[in-house]
Amino acid sequence: EKTKTPYFFTDKRSARKLIRDREKFSHKGTFGHALLLAGSFGKMGAAQLCGGACLRSGVGLLTLHVAGCGYEIIQIALPEAMCSVDIHEKMLTTLPDLNAYSAIGVGPGLGKEPQTLQMLENLIGEAKVPMVWDADALNLLSENPDLLKKLPEHTIITPHPKEFERLAGKSKDDYARLELARSFAGEHKLIVVLKGAHTSVIFPDGTVHFNATGNAGMATGGAGDVLTGILTSLLAQKYSPQDAARLGVYQHGIAGDRAAKARTKTAMIASDIVENMGW
Ligand code: AMP
Ligand code: MG
Repeated sequence: EKTKTPYFFTDKRSARKLIRDREKFSHKGTFGHALLLAGSFGKMGAAQLCGGACLRSGVGLLTLHVAGCGYEIIQIALPEAMCSVDIHEKMLTTLPDLNAYSAIGVGPGLGKEPQTLQMLENLIGEAKVPMVWDADALNLLSENPDLLKKLPEHTIITPHPKEFERLAGKSKDDYARLELARSFAGEHKLIVVLKGAHTSVIFPDGTVHFNATGNAGMATGGAGDVLTGILTSLLAQKYSPQDAARLGVYQHGIAGDRAAKARTKTAMIASDIVENMGW
């Protein structure tokens, strides 16, 4: 008897099937309005990388909500994006009015101050659109398990192995970690993007999609922030969280492979991934 395995591979053929055409009579409203909550004093680059990647993956409009110190940085670095400014100079403590947005990405460069945790609590209470949680947003969840339980169903989380360990605990090897991620995705009803070489995208039903693209040149600061921007853009465009996660991870890897070709795996940096986006 044939056993049905829950393991799949996202390669060129399966990724192509997920991509939607850009309709001739579309306008920027067709492609959604993304909101990114990222950056803090000394880490505004995370917001820039995340925002740049979001813009380059087809979103109609992008607003970044940033700490006061980030206002000029983001307006100059990303002229295509709009900027909403927090009352705090160095970190995010409040939310803008969320009604205007079709998807929200949160985490890159946030820091872990208590006021930022308060903002995350408010976000969980108020958000009615699909979300991506990454980086310090996940680290704050690890420290506040009650909040983790309230994360809306089908939120995409994008932990690297260390962040996943903080969230779900230690595993003895890669296989054990994958199985832990499957049960974690099921228990919390989340889309888990377990990052690394061959990033695995895990659905709440335990299905695993291994990604075929990417390279070790992507083991560099900011590469994950780029992925968060891509995923938020796809959610804003109304891709389902499952399709957004698979397609976004694939697209991120393709851009990384192009960046490595242009600059070598050694010399490439995260902004080269953004620069090399597109099919
Ligand atoms: P972060 O650790 O949050 O900056 O995320 C790093 C990003 O780069 C993730 O999307 C990883 O999948 C990717 N990455 C890191 N190392 C490798 C590797 N050796 N091969 C392929 N992708 C990688
Ligand atoms: Mg990261």
